[in-house]
Amino acid sequence: MLENHFEALQILVGFVGLLIFAIALPFILKAFRKKKPDQKVLPKTTQTSVGLKTSEQLKTQRPQDFIEKPKQPATIDVGFKQPEPAADKPISLEEKLKNTKSSLWGRMRSVFEGRTESEAMDQVEEILYTSDIGPKTVENLLEKIRIDLSASNLKNFDNISKSLRAEMFSMISPFHPSPIKWNPNGPTVILVLGVNGVGKTTTIGKLAALWAGEGKKVMVAAGDTFRAAAASQLRIWSERAQVEIFAPEHTKDPSGVAFEAVQKAVNEKFEVVIVDTAGRLHTQDHLMEELKKIKRVVGKALEGAPHEAWIVLDANSGQNALIQAKMFNQAIEITGAIVTKMDGTAKGGIIIGLHDELKIPVKKIGVGEKLEDLRDFKPEEFLNAIL
Ligand code: GDP
Ligand code: MG
Repeated sequence: MLENHFEALQILVGFVGLLIFAIALPFILKAFRKKKPDQKVLPKTTQTSVGLKTSEQLKTQRPQDFIEKPKQPATIDVGFKQPEPAADKPISLEEKLKNTKSSLWGRMRSVFEGRTESEAMDQVEEILYTSDIGPKTVENLLEKIRIDLSASNLKNFDNISKSLRAEMFSMISPFHPSPIKWNPNGPTVILVLGVNGVGKTTTIGKLAALWAGEGKKVMVAAGDTFRAAAASQLRIWSERAQVEIFAPEHTKDPSGVAFEAVQKAVNEKFEVVIVDTAGRLHTQDHLMEELKKIKRVVGKALEGAPHEAWIVLDANSGQNALIQAKMFNQAIEITGAIVTKMDGTAKGGIIIGLHDELKIPVKKIGVGEKLEDLRDFKPEEFLNAIL
């Protein structure tokens, strides 16, 4: 009995002790804490030099409320990794085409490992046929490689690679350099054509930025009147590139747009007019006729125009890209090609086929979705990047 009372008393004393400690704790802590200057603690996002602030907050904040870190780049805690700052050096073509190199041409390197010569040549043949080069050009290449190799008694990767590079170079290089036919007496008119989704509008934005950056007065014309969104997409690119856009509301006729754009360019002394066109399949006869009409009316607005007609080809569409180029070339004479999406795993063989089979020079290659992702096509640099 006495023991129970004693235990109850112990619990009570413990409880009262704890209660006193809990009440006294804030006072003890306050006494120990150093006294700081009176500073308002702001929510996290407002503690950066670039954080968003409401006008009310801005009114109540004093200079010392901003925590400035002038020597460090401003960062905002948005819960994901900030993109790396842009590299000082532009990314090399080799780096951009590294998937192309490893997905296909890199296989060439292992061809001789553990294989007899004839097995190795079979492999080389297979690699070439699956590289989107086009069968005619592959035949030409194989014939040349066999001749080259028979003159050498060392049939290894280095020799094959050297021979391939030399033969490809001799197919491409006669067309380069391939200068643009600039019009010295007025605007240079460039038509941009191709099937849907290949990258026409994106490429126009990149070209406009490139030439505007060189100080030229550039206009882009919204000749793709089929899709409502097409003109607004081109408008966004024109803003990025800081060039003028011609996208009239009163007409949905692509020839009308092209005609008026060139007239305006002549009157207002533009130096370049790039005409966007709707994507069309080479099998759609009426749309191919329309393309011929665009070309005709542009020539009426300005003698000698268009100065260039470029087909945009998606490197991922393989052999089909060669067929597209062939058919568009039959409809209106193509003066050059731009091969886009070379930054992916595209095999890039169409570039060889375009020159060897169709005699169409590649003017530029697209290596990404950004404004600066357009490169001049230089045969040697290209072959070095893929072989
Ligand atoms: P259009 O229908 O021919 O005008 O094609 P768009 O210009 O609208 O482009 C279609 C898509 O391809 C868009 O998502 C572009 O960002 C993308 N694109 C265009 N060029 C390139 C390129 O060189 N590389 C990559 N990765 N994407 C590209
Ligand atoms: Mg488009």
